[in-house]
Amino acid sequence: MTRRVGLLGNPLKRRHSVVMHNAAFAAAGIDARYELLELEPEAVEGAVAAARGPDWLGLGVTAPYKRLVAGLCDEVEADATTIGAVNNVAKAAGAQLVGFNSDAPGFRAAVELAMGRPLAGTEVVVAGAGGAAHAVVFACLGGGVRRLTIGNRTLPSATALAKRFAGVGGGTVAAVALDDLAFTAALGSADLAVNATTVGMLDPGMTIAVETLPAGATVFDLVYVPRETPLLAAARARNLRAANGSEMLVQQAAIAFERWTGVAGMADVMREAVAPLLADPTVVA
Ligand code: NAP
Repeated sequence: MTRRVGLLGNPLKRRHSVVMHNAAFAAAGIDARYELLELEPEAVEGAVAAARGPDWLGLGVTAPYKRLVAGLCDEVEADATTIGAVNNVAKAAGAQLVGFNSDAPGFRAAVELAMGRPLAGTEVVVAGAGGAAHAVVFACLGGGVRRLTIGNRTLPSATALAKRFAGVGGGTVAAVALDDLAFTAALGSADLAVNATTVGMLDPGMTIAVETLPAGATVFDLVYVPRETPLLAAARARNLRAANGSEMLVQQAAIAFERWTGVAGMADVMREAVAPLLADPTVVA
């Protein structure tokens, strides 16, 4: 029996997950395939119910179905509940569906590689307060960041995000508007600056004043299409450590793959498989 994993979402324009997971199935010798399930809302409940069947290993979930699918799981893990997003579903004993989040641990693994050190004890500035920023802020605070500043175009969203995670970890959290002088001031002593907005992908420009960062800082842009945003180009021009979101994409996929199959260590296979797609200039946001 060929086993299956499906990605639920609509629209599903990108094939990065398909390429990574199918390469990992092949490398691990698992008879399974990863497929895109671009469904209308009324079909989602049936698809989740079908995933209880023995041929299914699990599900991936993306916009706009994260909330809907979380409500259809038998259990949602504590981290995913705190972050407010289920982006994968695994199977537990008795065909139970368990919702989990792989973006937060995927971000942490990728950003610690980019920084060349653990997050613990660092000062971090995050631009953005949307879905991805929730996973980033949770990972930072859970990782022991000492001081975290969240800047967002819409201040109330940043404030709500800071409040939501105030109890996670022991660090201090401040929320400011992206154009507030306090945001620029925080950049002045940051070890890490993260772009978790769609700027650089959907809108031109950049969210972080790179010239303000200390010489030892790392810039991490969650955007991976295009591969090199103006923010990353500016960071590299200053000789700062800089990384786009492709390693987070790979790490979160490897974490999900391990949950579905029990097979760890597939990040290298996935990174190699997705490289041509990431390098393809015709793949646009
Ligand atoms: P989202 O929930 O729609 O949030 C969008 C964020 O961008 C909000 O904070 C929004 O601010 C901000 N924003 C949008 N346009 C802006 C502008 N012109 N100026 C300033 N801020 C602006 O999106 P998301 O799901 O968090 O995704 C954010 C980015 O992360 C996307 O580029 C996505 O591709 C990337 N991502 C990457 C990975 C990965 O594995 N590498 C994973 C997840 C997401 P307001 O609140 O003011 O609207």
